[in-house]
Amino acid sequence: MKPFKEKLSRRTFVKRNTLASLGIVLTAGSINKPFEIGSLSAQKPAILGGASAWSVDKWPIWPIWNPETDEKQVLEVLRSGVWSRAAVVTEFEKEWAAALGAKRCLAVVNGTNSLVIALNQFDIKAGDEVLVPPYTFIATVSAILSNGAMPVFVDVDPETFQIDPAKIEAKITSRTKAILPVHILGLPADMDPIMAIAKKHKLLVIEDACQAHLAEYDKHKVGTIGDAGCFSFQNSKNLPIGEGGAIVSNNDQFMDKCFSYSNFGNPFGAGVAAIGTGSMMQGTKLRFTEYQAAIGLAQMKRLDAQTTTRNENAAYLKSLIKDIPGIIPYKLYDKVTRGAFHLFPFRYHKEGFKGLLRINFLKALQAEGVPCSSGYTTLNTQPYLKDTFQSKNYKKMYPAEMLNINTYNERNKCPQNDQLCEEAVWFTQNILLGTQSDMKAIASAIEKIHQNADKIKTLSKK
Ligand SMILES: *Cc1c(COP(=O)(O)O)cnc(C)c1O
Repeated sequence: MKPFKEKLSRRTFVKRNTLASLGIVLTAGSINKPFEIGSLSAQKPAILGGASAWSVDKWPIWPIWNPETDEKQVLEVLRSGVWSRAAVVTEFEKEWAAALGAKRCLAVVNGTNSLVIALNQFDIKAGDEVLVPPYTFIATVSAILSNGAMPVFVDVDPETFQIDPAKIEAKITSRTKAILPVHILGLPADMDPIMAIAKKHKLLVIEDACQAHLAEYDKHKVGTIGDAGCFSFQNSKNLPIGEGGAIVSNNDQFMDKCFSYSNFGNPFGAGVAAIGTGSMMQGTKLRFTEYQAAIGLAQMKRLDAQTTTRNENAAYLKSLIKDIPGIIPYKLYDKVTRGAFHLFPFRYHKEGFKGLLRINFLKALQAEGVPCSSGYTTLNTQPYLKDTFQSKNYKKMYPAEMLNINTYNERNKCPQNDQLCEEAVWFTQNILLGTQSDMKAIASAIEKIHQNADKIKTLSKK
């Protein structure tokens, strides 16, 4: 069963459905793809041969690039021949820190390594435990493992998709050093209770804000609430540079060390060509480049307005679909003052759709011209954990009983997350840059599938 992707212009769509509603039958030759025309065509799901609700090529493209406004500084950098870290990277760091209200920012190669460095420079190493939600991208957990520390999974609140603060304390041991909340999907985690728990147990808080550019909790930008915040500028992210990342913090000593670590352990502020400064600590090289910074500065100019649009469209779309039985949109915590909406998530309950499986719901929705996916699979049960525990380093760092994968799995069960991974449906952030009619088209596509769920179910059984 392959969803057909019919390319319809908006005008064709309107024309076809107006004609169809008048009972006028078009000949197959007058349309892009022959399909059964009748008065029910507009209501008939595309996967069953009806007209699709929208056209996949109508969604805002990503990333956005305007040569007229965006290329001046990029070209200046290219023509200057100064490509390694210099003034433009510093300018980018100042701007990003200012946009967030953070004291300091260090731009690095990517979001993954921003997390690696932050953990590393807070001295989170062998034997230390880091509390982390399982509903996240693999990079969050691999950053913990690459420092030799132990990820301890805290189950999620399925209503918000975020780490459940009420489940954190039960996971704290004498080895716990940090909480690593992830503002997953660009929706802020519940930072007040998280910070209170951290304070009580003297734990560090490192925020994974890789999907949450300009999101706010109680008017504070996420990434600036804990001890450090980490960002990604990978191409799919709300601030796209191809690759890139940043650490932000108000802690000068920590930020100086992060700089040194990312630059061979040379003292803070050492230029790229510095030789003979001496390395004061063990470091590596994770530097950002001038042309990345120039692209980033261009992208940053539209980020605030885009974030506003995403918030408006997300709220609107949520209002349109929240009463469809079986569709349970995300919930924001009371203190959230702005989302980033890297993704628009809802939970899908097949019971509301006559038992139509999520996979077939997704195929039907894709056939309507609405790109969608099922999101993450359970990160606390994948083979990379066993593989790490069997590595030479881990065997030297931990007693055997701590590396027993069965015991580990038993301790790290996250039933709410297991369920969430079975139920989630996502739309990507560029969809939320569309118009109100785009949001209406999504809602009507879902309604159409809802009304015809039994027929689609029969089709998918064949
Ligand atoms: C993208 C992402 C990362 C990693 O960022 P990269 O720039 O791709 O290395 C880390 N955590 C989360 C939650 C992400 O979405």
